[in-house]
Amino acid sequence: MLSKQLSIWYEENRRDLPWRRTRDPYAIWLSEIMLQQTTVRVVIPYFERFLIAFPTVESLAKAPEARVTALWSGLGYYSRARNLHQAAKQIEKLKKFPDSYATLLTLKGVGPYTSAAIASIAYGESVAVVDGNVTRVISRLFDLSADVGIKKTQREIQLLATELINGQNPSTHNQAMMELGATICVPKNPCCILCPVSSYCKAFENGTQLLRPVKSGKKKQVPWVWSIKLLEKNGRIAMTKSDNGTPWLKGTWVFPGTAKKLTGPLKKPWDLKHSITKHNIFVVVESAKTGDDFKNLTWMKPQDIKNFGVSSIVHKVLNLKGLL
Ligand code: SF4
Repeated sequence: MLSKQLSIWYEENRRDLPWRRTRDPYAIWLSEIMLQQTTVRVVIPYFERFLIAFPTVESLAKAPEARVTALWSGLGYYSRARNLHQAAKQIEKLKKFPDSYATLLTLKGVGPYTSAAIASIAYGESVAVVDGNVTRVISRLFDLSADVGIKKTQREIQLLATELINGQNPSTHNQAMMELGATICVPKNPCCILCPVSSYCKAFENGTQLLRPVKSGKKKQVPWVWSIKLLEKNGRIAMTKSDNGTPWLKGTWVFPGTAKKLTGPLKKPWDLKHSITKHNIFVVVESAKTGDDFKNLTWMKPQDIKNFGVSSIVHKVLNLKGLL
């Protein structure tokens, strides 16, 4: 039986990761949010530092937001850190960590994927976790020729993933599916020869592994020009937390400036290019003497800026200008 073989393989081959040594829903939740944006290798030190600073969900709820985002600094997607913080406050009010798929979904920033991961791994609820890795594994196991970007296919994959649990321990099964996708059934060169479920795999049988999953064109990148003013006074730099017209980095500390969608050729030379999700940002850095055009400026020492959970785009600008 596929799910049994997969679980046995997982128990024998799984990577020893810090969040796999616990059933604490708070730690599992934290790891899942962090892992949504980067690799396991990058996440481990962040995860460990975060849990040392906030060992319980109550300690996270009581922490100032600036401290939470500072510990997130470098991971990107700061809205996730803020949602985590808000959800911790929700849990503090509830006086109990939500313990089912349905109740976990009520937390700020917790969607079906994260909810299923916490419910199955921490509480053993029989719900399937479907992330990018699992989507790939399922579309290969069943040799699905439909586009996985379409809602109908996604629903089909969710159903197939749920059926595959098939009486096995949902925690082990879900983690095994994710592990298979992360280590064996990888996007470019799946290692079918080492795959514990190759005898069940339709794509392996049909030789179509590399054609699955079928994906429609990638989302278009949107180009932006972000003209920022680098204002220096008495060894300090002007920063602002206003939304600044940028659709990225809302609510985080950035340099004052203006952002505009690029609709034609870029007229000014740009200083650096940076991508955040679907935004391709061309940054133009201008030095200025006065910040009269801007409201709500806060003056910070360059070396202190990193303590405020700023994006790596801010670090890049400070490095570029020799201020770090
Ligand atoms: Fe993926 Fe190959 Fe295993 Fe099929 S046999 S699930 S394509 S690694």
